[in-house]
Amino acid sequence: MKNKSLLFIFSSALVLFIISLSSNLMAQNLMSISFYENHYRYKETAVDSKRIDHKELTEFIQKIAGNNKFRIKTAGHSLEGREIYLISLGSGPINVLAWSQMHGDESTATMALLDIFNFFNTEDEYDSFKNDLLERVTLHFIPMLNPDGAEKFTRRNALQIDLNRDALRLEFPESKILKSVRDSINPAFGFNLHDQSTLYTAGISKKSATISFLAPAYNYAKDINDVRTNTMKLIASIYTELSNFIPGHIGRYNDDFEPRAFGDNFVKWGTSSVLIESGGWRDDVEKQFIRRLNFTALLSGFQSIATKSYDKYDLKDYTAIPENEKMLFDLLLRNLSLQFKDHTYKIDVGINLSEKSYNGNEGYYFQSTVEDIGDLSTFYGYKDIDCSGLKLEEGSVYENGTGEEPDENFAVDLLKKGFVAVKLENAKRDQKFTNLPINVVNKNGKQFDFKINKPANFIILDGEKIRYSVINGFIFDHSINKNLILNGLIID
Ligand SMILES: [Zn+2]
Repeated sequence: MKNKSLLFIFSSALVLFIISLSSNLMAQNLMSISFYENHYRYKETAVDSKRIDHKELTEFIQKIAGNNKFRIKTAGHSLEGREIYLISLGSGPINVLAWSQMHGDESTATMALLDIFNFFNTEDEYDSFKNDLLERVTLHFIPMLNPDGAEKFTRRNALQIDLNRDALRLEFPESKILKSVRDSINPAFGFNLHDQSTLYTAGISKKSATISFLAPAYNYAKDINDVRTNTMKLIASIYTELSNFIPGHIGRYNDDFEPRAFGDNFVKWGTSSVLIESGGWRDDVEKQFIRRLNFTALLSGFQSIATKSYDKYDLKDYTAIPENEKMLFDLLLRNLSLQFKDHTYKIDVGINLSEKSYNGNEGYYFQSTVEDIGDLSTFYGYKDIDCSGLKLEEGSVYENGTGEEPDENFAVDLLKKGFVAVKLENAKRDQKFTNLPINVVNKNGKQFDFKINKPANFIILDGEKIRYSVINGFIFDHSINKNLILNGLIID
């Protein structure tokens, strides 16, 4: 503990020393470490969950509107009439446009943009850095391009359109707004900010692609012109900085040309447009660590643009970034024995969890799926368990005599007896999950078969003893009495 605080004092002093050297924009790698270390000072505490909605965004923007450093305007309105904001800062000759949450359920970068606004809204030892930066670049931001999608935490807009396939036709207001802002600013650089599957890995590896980059193609031939070259160089510079914090966890997105996508068209229209995809990080469901990485990546990127330090990178620095692969499951159980007739067979079981929103974007629960069964030895799991010597069996349903909902202790007792569900007459039909560490079925009941593409509910035995209960893709480890079950399902 003591050592830790001494280390903290030392690193804080080092950061202050570094910043004091930075009256003009200094070497980029040193600053990225300081952005990363100091993110907590700027993190917008009113927003701590990825289900940020338009109301929260508006309240935040009203808060910073008092600072005339920010030029805030309504660039237009979404289909359902929500304001889409354009926030500009600085007076430099190089224009930069960053837009987030074109897909309504991809909000990691929106959270990071709030933190960046707080960074610029604070007077502190970074002032000379900020002043220098804003004399060289003008920064423009559209946080939350798809507020109607954000309201329901869904990808598409209110008419179920994927806005990233509307860059040619420009049929919908959100797309028109992005295009007209681009045309009015004519930015040299763009940041197109998304979230990707948490199951992507950086290359053939067990490391999640926590951040992935793409320098989009502007034609089917994937030609490389000056605009795309600068995109690649800028990515290489940000990649180098971020690798300090998440080595091996950065991927490169597929560059197949999509003529209807905005990133591809931005490059065609003359803007070096960097795609940043926020992926997964173990136990970071709310993406707060990845938010910090976005904060660091964007500020480092702005600094790289302002100092032109990206120019020292080579195209091969970009192509050396490992491509995105999909090598992960949320839970991988290896080397299980499964009995069929009088034989036992060795299988691996790959299980994924998906988030299901309820009440708009108020909250969510998890629903598991048995994604694959068989030889999965070439894959990895966020949670990865060797079950050699253990046997998979289907769990059973407890027929509750009283019809009353069990408490948690009783539910755990049921797990210890090999049950994976409890039958209740009065299971709430308007709700699809339970906070109990067991599933609930109504009086018509459901068999709990072990089946591919179905929720993962079964037991794992060590001899005659139950070692693990797998409830909705989560694990209860009976050997250490450890409950990692976040929610069970209520099944009609
Ligand atoms: Zn997206």
